[in-house]
Amino acid sequence: MFSLFSNKEKRNLNAEKSILCPCKSGETLNQCCGPYHEGKTAPTAEILMRSRYSAFVLGLSEYIWQTWHPDTRPDLDILGGLNLKWINLEIINTETGLENDDQGKVHFAASYVTSNKGKTLDENSDFVKEDDAWLYVDGDCTVIDISRNDSCPCDSGLKFKRCCLKNS
Ligand SMILES: [Zn+2]
Ligand SMILES: [Zn+2]
Repeated sequence: MFSLFSNKEKRNLNAEKSILCPCKSGETLNQCCGPYHEGKTAPTAEILMRSRYSAFVLGLSEYIWQTWHPDTRPDLDILGGLNLKWINLEIINTETGLENDDQGKVHFAASYVTSNKGKTLDENSDFVKEDDAWLYVDGDCTVIDISRNDSCPCDSGLKFKRCCLKNS
């Protein structure tokens, strides 16, 4: 069939059509967290962390549950019922958690809006690798309120009340 585009151009068009990955990597979802949601094994704790955040944004509660250690995970129903609008992820630091490790720590800040209020979850998470798959275990976390006049965590340069709070 006649086509205006070469295969390479078609691939680029498809990539452009894909949404930007919610984990804020700057890549499209297909190039970033999407393949892990579809069963690819995350090579590092940080990549698993990013893909779990993206799954929270996209409402993929089963993926969040599957990548949560069986000893610490909540019921799948509880995860599915969370009504949080996630607006930003920032990875602050990672320790170990690389391909040859079996334990890792990821320090991140994730912001969300719930009941018209903004919160930032600052968490030091522990991850373990079992049977070649990274799993989230648990974390030490602090929840910080976002004030309406704070600059928005999403880095738009706007005040929170004029940005993600308004759009939530
Ligand atoms: Zn991603
Ligand atoms: Zn914003």
